[in-house]
Amino acid sequence: NAVPRIELNDGTQIPQLGFGVYQIDPAETEQAVSTALEAGYRHVDTAAAYRNERQVGESVRASDEQVYVTTKYMNPTEDHGYEDAKGAFQRSIDRLGLDHVDLYLIHFPIGAGEGYTASWRALTELRNTDGLRSIGVSNFTSTHLARAIDETGVTPAVNQVELHPYFQQAELRRDHAQRGIATEAWGPLGQGAVLEDPVLTEIAEAHGKTVAQVVIRWHLQLGTIVIPKSVTASRIRANFDVFDFELTTEQMRSIETLDRADGRNGPDPNTFVFP
Ligand code: NAD
Repeated sequence: NAVPRIELNDGTQIPQLGFGVYQIDPAETEQAVSTALEAGYRHVDTAAAYRNERQVGESVRASDEQVYVTTKYMNPTEDHGYEDAKGAFQRSIDRLGLDHVDLYLIHFPIGAGEGYTASWRALTELRNTDGLRSIGVSNFTSTHLARAIDETGVTPAVNQVELHPYFQQAELRRDHAQRGIATEAWGPLGQGAVLEDPVLTEIAEAHGKTVAQVVIRWHLQLGTIVIPKSVTASRIRANFDVFDFELTTEQMRSIETLDRADGRNGPDPNTFVFP
């Protein structure tokens, strides 16, 4: 398999390119994941909130391959909680029907007070059980990371954050590098927003590739873990066909200039509240 593996700070390894299933209808999920596994993906990113863990688990169990599975803890209210996180993990693994989860993330750092640090403490304990290999977080800023680490002494293996050519998170990536946290990019294609970009289009034409392939290649060369989503079989396959070309240093630099102050698509973790 052509996919490089990234070593995490707990000694485990994660395939750098995975398949995201956010907003994939449960009725379409088995087909999409099976297509991805046939194409060569060995890593699937789901979440309790996506309501398709059951279907992800069915496709993974039907495959003969070793598949790296990530799911996420969705705190039901703003009260993250120690007990709630433990119960939620058990429900996720039951829905998946797998004997273990490779990576379990706190989906959002919301909650005032003790909030997310209490759930992080629960995850640090869950990791010591047979059913869970690695633990991490999602949508954490440097402030959230510092607090979770200070209060538990445990550094997340991964922080999954919005990251794409229009929202590059350079400062947060530097913080991750210093702390030994792997950066995982969600919305890696800007949820479609970057696909018409003229600079990316020119680079794509130079390589005889699509813009989506250039952007996924950019993530791989940047060192981020990348989990593009599609339900279209040809795109699922094309998004994996990124190991036969390389962006030059100059092309990497011109993509770096596409970063924008208003490039964020998703909610700002500093102000996000549940609807
Ligand atoms: P994405 O950047 O992967 O974009 C997906 C969209 O781009 C698709 O709906 C499709 O319309 C389009 N697309 C995909 N491949 C294409 C191609 N080859 N050509 C043309 N168009 C193409 O956005 P995403 O799904 O939001 O993010 C990827 C994954 O990240 C999700 O599925 C999920 O697993 C994860 N995610 C996590 C969070 C979080 O809060 N942790 C938030 C959003 C997404």
